[in-house]
Amino acid sequence: MDKTFENTKKLNWRGLICEYGEFLPVTPGARVITLGEGATPLVHAPHLSQIKGADVYLKFEGANPTGSFKDRGMTLAITKAVEAGSSAVVCASTGNTSASAAAYAAKAGLACIVLIPAGYIALGKLAQALIYGAKVVQIRGNFDRALEIVRELGDSKPVTVVNSINPYRIEGQKTGAFEVVDQLGDAPDYHFIPVGNAGNITAYWRGYNEYLKAGISTRLPRMMGVQAAGAAPIVLGHPVVNPDTVATAIRIGNPASWSGALGAKDESGGEIFAVSDEEILSAYRLLARYESIFCEPASAASVAGLLKTPVDPGSSVVCVLTGNGLKDPDTAISQIEVPTAVDADLDAISAALGL
Ligand SMILES: *Cc1c(COP(=O)(O)O)cnc(C)c1O
Repeated sequence: MDKTFENTKKLNWRGLICEYGEFLPVTPGARVITLGEGATPLVHAPHLSQIKGADVYLKFEGANPTGSFKDRGMTLAITKAVEAGSSAVVCASTGNTSASAAAYAAKAGLACIVLIPAGYIALGKLAQALIYGAKVVQIRGNFDRALEIVRELGDSKPVTVVNSINPYRIEGQKTGAFEVVDQLGDAPDYHFIPVGNAGNITAYWRGYNEYLKAGISTRLPRMMGVQAAGAAPIVLGHPVVNPDTVATAIRIGNPASWSGALGAKDESGGEIFAVSDEEILSAYRLLARYESIFCEPASAASVAGLLKTPVDPGSSVVCVLTGNGLKDPDTAISQIEVPTAVDADLDAISAALGL
């Protein structure tokens, strides 16, 4: 094949709705709101593979247009909001949903309102929501309270809710599973994923099942959901009133898709379990240092979960790294020793380097 043609084909990704439209509830001829999301790297992880005696892959969702997997659901949610004639969207967010909603709403020409828990959102995410032009309200309350208010706004005002209680979000997000199968040739043995509001584990499980039904894959993975110990309602079996974890993206005490997460676990023979903040931060540093992937703390929960779970020798493992580390530089800086400035001369620099 002509090389130029091959490259054109590879670079001609049109976004999830066009690429996976036959699996999505899209209306023919509808205006598609896309930023070219999806087709994220599935990176082989040699260091983790060696530790676990398995074939470990990392799906780096931080490579999406706004830096998290939330773009997969948002392209469809906003496309449907436009189709329905909506003029404004609203969401509660631990940060990434608001960044994504703000970007796709701006693309569509819709107003965007976001409610965030004051003081508990990574700086990069807040910056994104603001620069894309969303109307941001910081509330004195946590994510769970913000979501309650958003539900009330959706019921009483002419706005479309784009949290994952909007069914199009989960529909769009299931394409992550399609890509894993398209890239590996079949479903993996294990799928590790952070669990906050539990929309994403629900979505991946649906995606794997739809590909099996369509005859594109031949098997299903065990779904391994990982919560932060301070925000582990599904593990505990009851809501957590004051969830707390360094992984702010999964700092959620009463997940909207609780039953979806339990369904994924039970039907797949998987597990939902908790990891400590220390385990999360240790995985976070390991990923950057040994696998060259800078993800956010919540994302590292999936790898923290893998590190403490025995897997069958030689099995294939996918860990979803849900968001980009650049969103939360404060946590990164807190994990390293920041070098002090030295004089700009060779001797001072040599001394500082111990050369
Ligand atoms: C939203 C989010 C999660 C949690 O996903 P849920 O669908 O809420 O379970 C995990 N990591 C990151 C980076 C997120 O933005």
